[in-house]
Amino acid sequence: MNLEVRIQEVNKRIEEACLRSGRPAEEVNTVAVTKYVSTDMAAKVLDSGLENMGENRWQNAEEKWNALGHRGIWHFIGHLQTNKVKDVIGKFEYIHSLDRLSLAKELEKSAAAKGLVIKTFVQVNISGEDSKYGLAPEEAAAFLQEIQSFSHIKVIGLMTMAPFEDTAEATRMVFRGLRELRDDLNRQGVTQEPLTELSMGMSNDFEVAIEEGATWIRLGSILVGKQEEE
Ligand SMILES: *Cc1c(COP(=O)(O)O)cnc(C)c1O
Repeated sequence: MNLEVRIQEVNKRIEEACLRSGRPAEEVNTVAVTKYVSTDMAAKVLDSGLENMGENRWQNAEEKWNALGHRGIWHFIGHLQTNKVKDVIGKFEYIHSLDRLSLAKELEKSAAAKGLVIKTFVQVNISGEDSKYGLAPEEAAAFLQEIQSFSHIKVIGLMTMAPFEDTAEATRMVFRGLRELRDDLNRQGVTQEPLTELSMGMSNDFEVAIEEGATWIRLGSILVGKQEEE
């Protein structure tokens, strides 16, 4: 299957999930995750009209960003080591994986030095799996308050990763948990402006994530493909 066909099929499934849940399709943004593919393929993704590009490691992203960074909007979606902040700052407009104070401090310092405001999602480990990064849900409010004064970090929402399950349906409670946490934080007025965004849903579970309120889905294999499927 080529890229155009995959995009059409994914868009159809997004629209159907929106219809089922009574949401306007414009609320759902797609990040095309290019971590499995070459720079050439990433260029085709941009040619196809997709503009949000996701990478999870600077080592994988570097060549692609150097070639294509002037096009599209770049999202850093993977675990971010503090010593890699200097590499990604000013290149990635969105960081989906803000999960600790030391990282917030480093982002704040680097963004301030460049005169930038970086958009972030606070990553929360809703499923509680040991293997997942992210704050425990009960830590989120205190963390948000702690970084409230960091004027070069704008937290726009929350991000989570669901465990890999045999059926997408099994992930529903994780996505619902993230939405309910966001709504709770907004009710408590933890942030100056309400958190609007939810980054959740990947190739195997994006429809359930949309039904539960995702505003950003991160799609790699199903959309961009893996290299050998080019
Ligand atoms: C790789 C990755 C994705 C996309 O994975 P697919 O299952 O291929 O869609 C999404 N989010 C993160 C954080 C990733 O690392």
